[in-house]
Amino acid sequence: LEVVRSVEPRIADAIAKELHDQRESLKLIASENYASPAVLLAMGNWLSDKYAEGTIGRRFYAGCQNVDTVEAVAVEHAKALFNAPYAYVQPHSGIDANLVAYWAILADRVEVPALRRFEKRQINDLNDAEWAELRRAFGNQRMLGMSLDAGGHLTHGFRPNISGKMFDQRSYGVDRATGQIDYAALRETAREFKPLIIVGGYSAYPRKVNFATMREIADEVGATFMVDMAHFAGLVAGKVFTGDFNPVEHAHIVTTTTHKSLRGPRGGAVLAQPELADQVDRGCPMVLGGPLSHVMAAKAIAFAEARRPEFADYAQQIVTNSQALAEGLLKRGVQLVSGGTDNHLVLLDVHPFGLTGRQAEQALLDSGVVTNRNAIPQDPNGAWYTSGIRIGTPALTSRGLGTAEMDQIADLIHTVLVNTTSAEGSKAKYNLDPALADRVSKQATELLAPFP
Ligand code: PLP
Repeated sequence: LEVVRSVEPRIADAIAKELHDQRESLKLIASENYASPAVLLAMGNWLSDKYAEGTIGRRFYAGCQNVDTVEAVAVEHAKALFNAPYAYVQPHSGIDANLVAYWAILADRVEVPALRRFEKRQINDLNDAEWAELRRAFGNQRMLGMSLDAGGHLTHGFRPNISGKMFDQRSYGVDRATGQIDYAALRETAREFKPLIIVGGYSAYPRKVNFATMREIADEVGATFMVDMAHFAGLVAGKVFTGDFNPVEHAHIVTTTTHKSLRGPRGGAVLAQPELADQVDRGCPMVLGGPLSHVMAAKAIAFAEARRPEFADYAQQIVTNSQALAEGLLKRGVQLVSGGTDNHLVLLDVHPFGLTGRQAEQALLDSGVVTNRNAIPQDPNGAWYTSGIRIGTPALTSRGLGTAEMDQIADLIHTVLVNTTSAEGSKAKYNLDPALADRVSKQATELLAPFP
């Protein structure tokens, strides 16, 4: 840090303060974790300085022998970890991984008569008129993804993201009574809408997903089945989600981030069936720029770490902790979407406290409890203010906290929520006694002290 400080002290201070904040507050954001020192060090080095557009052994730059090694090792570990026939580790983030996958599916599936004159799909060899034909055909495709208020992600065809502009999107959601995916309704929508792509996966759904059933539906309507496992990749890697619940066994193509429950560097990856491999390989330069070689190195380390037996224990403990947290909240009268959890996250409905998600999020933050607001099914407060709080256990489980601590955390969360009131007529302002926030914050720090 002193080297950084010698150039720009404000950056050194921000880094040091970030470490302090992450150590001293309860990090309960479901998409965050603590990467290991090996992951961080593999990322902070000279690989960052190298350009390596292309694929392994086929680069647009000279001198890529070391990046080739890095990428090949990362691919080897990713394939072994997830038991996947093909892996692509270049995507810089989850959004990029999804764009690479969408491109690959379009290129593989969409019928463009001009392409028939080639033996293989040689998209780059189309003439101008044929390109126009391809653009029209590609821009007119359908996607079926999980609705945002049920826990879907913006990249699954929603308008604030480019996927919503690329695709004609329709959503599937959850059953009102159970809060769980309504597979019969999903099947019905798929039959009627006939999407090119069905997207499984989520950012804020607290239950297992039956990917075997979703594949069956995709096959019935001739859709390509893609799963975005960004949130729960660690649970797949750690063999908590197996059989019908393991997306890699059922999807044509799987995308992920590497920094959430998987505990790697910030980045993305794609796993695919062999028939899609050629198109996914074109992710760079079709969607991506030069790969972040240093991040691919860190991904290799993270995948290797996740192949160790102790990672399976970690993954199981994430869910055990999440369920203990859910129980602790339920017994104190907090309402949970779907009534519980079978994964790494719980979704609180804060409406009964007379609060919006935004008010609850800020009140918790004042009290050293870091979460994020999230829409809940049929949310009356929309996507900005929301009525939910999403809480995840991957990060605190990495620090070694267990079920006893989860019960104490449930108590702290409940204490803050029952003592916060909405400011008259506001969806953002709230009242919370600063002394109480301070007391909870100190309790949070004390609770974390044995888990440095
Ligand atoms: N997919 C899902 C399901 C996510 O939850 C997220 C991020 O929250 C992403 C994709 C995007 O990942 P990134 O922020 O790395 O682009």
